[in-house]
Amino acid sequence: MAENITFASLNLAPEILKALDETGYTTPTPIQAQAIPLVLEGRDVMAGAQTGTGKTAAFALPTLQKLLPSASTSASPARHPVRALVLVPTRELAIQVEESVRLYAKHCPLRSLVVFGGVDIKTQTPYLMKGVEILVATPGRLLDHVEQRTVQLNQVQMLVLDEADRMLDMGFMPDLKRILALLPKKRQNLMFSATFSPEIKKLSAEFLNDPVLVEASRSNATAENVTQKVYLTSQEGKQAKLVEILQENPTTQAIVFTKTKLTASRLARQLVRSGINADAIHGDKSQLERIQALDAFKQGKVVALVATDVAARGLDIDQLPMVVNYEIPSAPEDYVHRIGRTGRAGASGIAISLVSPEEEKYLKEIEKLIKREIPKEKSTTVSTAAVASAPKNSRPRQAKSAVDDWFSRPYEPSANASPPRQNSPSKNGKSTGEVAALLGGLRRQD
Ligand code: AMP
Repeated sequence: MAENITFASLNLAPEILKALDETGYTTPTPIQAQAIPLVLEGRDVMAGAQTGTGKTAAFALPTLQKLLPSASTSASPARHPVRALVLVPTRELAIQVEESVRLYAKHCPLRSLVVFGGVDIKTQTPYLMKGVEILVATPGRLLDHVEQRTVQLNQVQMLVLDEADRMLDMGFMPDLKRILALLPKKRQNLMFSATFSPEIKKLSAEFLNDPVLVEASRSNATAENVTQKVYLTSQEGKQAKLVEILQENPTTQAIVFTKTKLTASRLARQLVRSGINADAIHGDKSQLERIQALDAFKQGKVVALVATDVAARGLDIDQLPMVVNYEIPSAPEDYVHRIGRTGRAGASGIAISLVSPEEEKYLKEIEKLIKREIPKEKSTTVSTAAVASAPKNSRPRQAKSAVDDWFSRPYEPSANASPPRQNSPSKNGKSTGEVAALLGGLRRQD
């Protein structure tokens, strides 16, 4: 029975168990309970799991365990070759994954490092040259290091492709192929993906060796505890509708998805003009700007975080009450990703989509994929000048309008909701606040 599984019963080493104990984890999550024994057995694993399922520990813990016999206390870089390579699509995810690895490895004499693009490569080189056993990297930057001969990959024995579907979406296939060609043929491969598109299946067939398939939940399924709702509206009416939704429940934080960076920036500015504390994260923002926006969201200062799919990817977000699709994605899998941001670990969540007539064809595709019809309502909100001229930085409450009271109910995890992690003021410094229990992992690297 899954409930009886403990980390100790998974035969993890005492050094790892101690770190888990100190972190406050008591029970393995389903993906951990399934994947850890297989990885320890040496099998290649193809895992269907998205952020929030505990997937990082699912690959990090057994990886550490497998590297323990070759751990060395020697200072010599030669004794610390890269033995495990974790490839991730975004910097944010890279930072979070390495932070988790470091946390779990704190009693193991194993070194980890994160390298990602967008920052001066020279700052990373001295750390790489000292030798690290576990390297977390975005593909492009890893190849830069390979070119500069600041990293060698000929002793990699474990390869993890995290968020593989997103890596493909972001066009990393050529980079992945180049990297894979540099690795020893004999190695163990683990692949994690939230969705199983035909491309992912192809990637898995190409790079994994007789993989075992494990799934945290049904792929391409949307959680039962997420209430989905569609407002049919004109493109012009979307902004006013969004303002109305956000104002109806001013304490509810939401991620608002747009398709493009431009719309994300514009919308965030327009929301601020309407008196809603909003900010945007997207690829054109600097790392620092993104971190600042995330920190503000985490602290509850920002109510609406407007994001593109790519930028939102990899954010360690727990228990987010609301996701709004300002524009619905043309790839139906992205809808599953987006709404997977809410309703985690049994908590209830709301996913609202504003759908214009031009987008209805995408909505049909989504409904086909998730095998259910999403309740629809015609939005009666009209674009108003009043909304646009609301005073700056205030949260004017509107008269109750055509929104049902479902929106004004405060966010409450459902009775059987078990938090996905202990929110103790843990050693990893993760947030303890209630509203702020939204983003767990991204912190400044000093
Ligand atoms: P991930 O899906 O790897 O991004 O993990 C989501 C969150 O769950 C992270 O904040 C982890 O720290 C936390 N977590 C992972 N495994 C466990 C566990 N077994 N018990 C409690 N929290 C966990």
